Amino acid sequence: MMYNPTQCPAADEIDIPAIRARYLAERDRRIKKDHNDQYIASSGKYAEIYEVDPYTPVTPRDPITGETDVVILGAGYCGMMVGAQLRKAGIDNFYNIDHGGDFGGTWYWNRYPGIQCDNDALCYMPLLEETGYMPSRKFADGIEIQKHCRIIAEHFGLYQNALFHTLIRNLKWDPEINRWHVGTNRGDDIKARFVVLAMGPLNKPKLPGIPGIDRFKGKMFHTARWDYEYTGGEWGRPELEKLKDKRVAIIGTGATAVQIVPYLGKYAKQLYVIQRTPSTIDFRNNRETDPEWFASQKPGWQEERIRNFHRAAMERLAPREPDMVEDIWTEISRNCNAQLEAEGWPDISPEEYAERREVMDYRVMERLRARVDALVEDPETAEALKPYYRYLCKRPCSNDDFYPTFNRPNVTLIDVAETQGVERLTETGFVHKGQEYEIDCLIFASGYEVTNDLDRRWGIDTIEGREGVSIYDYWRDGFRTFQGMMAHNFPNMFFTGFTQAGANATNSKTFIDQGRHIGYIASEAIRRGAAMVEPSQEAQDAYIAKLRSVAVDNSRFQNECTPSYFNNEGDPVKKRSIFGEPWGEGYYAFEDMLAKWRDEGSMAGLVLNSEHTLEPAE
Ligand code: NDP
Repeated sequence: MMYNPTQCPAADEIDIPAIRARYLAERDRRIKKDHNDQYIASSGKYAEIYEVDPYTPVTPRDPITGETDVVILGAGYCGMMVGAQLRKAGIDNFYNIDHGGDFGGTWYWNRYPGIQCDNDALCYMPLLEETGYMPSRKFADGIEIQKHCRIIAEHFGLYQNALFHTLIRNLKWDPEINRWHVGTNRGDDIKARFVVLAMGPLNKPKLPGIPGIDRFKGKMFHTARWDYEYTGGEWGRPELEKLKDKRVAIIGTGATAVQIVPYLGKYAKQLYVIQRTPSTIDFRNNRETDPEWFASQKPGWQEERIRNFHRAAMERLAPREPDMVEDIWTEISRNCNAQLEAEGWPDISPEEYAERREVMDYRVMERLRARVDALVEDPETAEALKPYYRYLCKRPCSNDDFYPTFNRPNVTLIDVAETQGVERLTETGFVHKGQEYEIDCLIFASGYEVTNDLDRRWGIDTIEGREGVSIYDYWRDGFRTFQGMMAHNFPNMFFTGFTQAGANATNSKTFIDQGRHIGYIASEAIRRGAAMVEPSQEAQDAYIAKLRSVAVDNSRFQNECTPSYFNNEGDPVKKRSIFGEPWGEGYYAFEDMLAKWRDEGSMAGLVLNSEHTLEPAE
């Protein structure tokens, strides 16, 4: 049968119980007993991978010891959105502190060949209406996204407040002055009224703990610090001509590697792709944005598109609602709606809808496995490249060149699923199933510290709130927050992300909304002359009780997935997944709740302490 890239097989054409059994078997053989401990942190002797900026020279500056209203840790999407929202709330005295040399965060550091966003740029790139920016294509290049970050920073005047090449080492609450002491690697001791932690979940690269990793004498680097000096080419020009006489291995086949592999295959003398779990990879269908269409959009179009995408990707499209985004992220919802339409929109319960989604999930994944057969010539290689798990167990990808790369004579797939990794590294290569493969260069596409302990992941030595309470101890057995953004004992400190908060399918939308909420609380506290604002113990307990009472139990799904940072490396009970305890009623229910809370104006649940009130900082 010819492969049709948009047509899933019918439910009765596939053996769902057999596929499900195969999924569980894949999960079982992939579970590693050491879960997160299998990885090596980019600290200690590997600190250079994280701390050194190969792209921008560090400019010397004197340590800063003055006061500010807000220190925002991070100058990526989240830190920028918070900065923009602080300005809108009337707070101008703040710093964005980042160890990169410019705005962009992940889009500053990641410059690897082929880097593009896998999400619809019209949703993903924030504040398009405010900046008047039209993304050039549906899936924008990394270099374009970083350019847009600079445009946002200019638009909101963030450069004047930026401290680059600066790593925060210590955060200590000082009750004498009701300020946070912000200590950095540049010798700063900034006294900040508020601190916002906006470092994002993908900031610290991690390495696979392969025996002998220290022995290898060839070139090694992580994808988050691409070495064009070694490979040839440059950011935005992925012509890796210096690899033409090099034997290269890449470890990992996640979203990053999927984008890189076609370029390595094209330029390297020999490429080994070391794969433990295959990704889910659809066709790309990237296309230019139509300027006429873009110009014709009415105010509010981006929010409307983001809401539509969120419903399609994470909730449920309304009857007859069009799918504006139309890609792999929305296929299951789109297909389910098409099915319901064909049946004349029967009134079905949420449970029945979930059952239909699950069947559609098997059908879509079966289509994607058929895609591998259609594009990869060697049947054994094709079989090994097929993903056997449910959609969204791993982050879905789309790429037109990844699979055909395996038809090149210089490209070999090293399937390490059975052995859970290569056996060891030697001085000159790697050993798999007793055979040594000689290489010149080893590239780690091994991902980030998303689910490891917070101190390891954040890289801040000390975060001490009232009475010296450490956040790392306070959260050792699980997160405890109020609205996902504040914690008792940690006055004037804000957290960002999805933990105990709303998770939007477009993460920049989450950051815009969190920035707005933080801007509101901080500006209200200043306006009301409060030196300290902190959730009461009772309010925090009540919030967590409510969060858990509306939680949606997706443990079956999580437990049945192959391990990844989505399910805490196959140890989901610890709730340290990137989506740790999201608001079960959905993103917009969460947002509406916060908007109502702000409208009421009583700051209910927060204790505002006006003792030791200081004048707003100059
Ligand atoms: P991931 O964590 O998704 O992937 C890491 C890869 O390394 C996995 O394939 C993993 O295998 C593999 N790996 C780890 N240890 C070993 C080992 N010992 N032996 C063999 N393989 C190993 O990292 P990525 O950098 O690919 O992606 C991280 C995230 O970055 C994405 O999920 C996405 O959120 C973001 N991203 C976004 C993009 C975008 O377009 N917006 C593009 C690229 C990345 P296994 O799966 O078996 O653990």
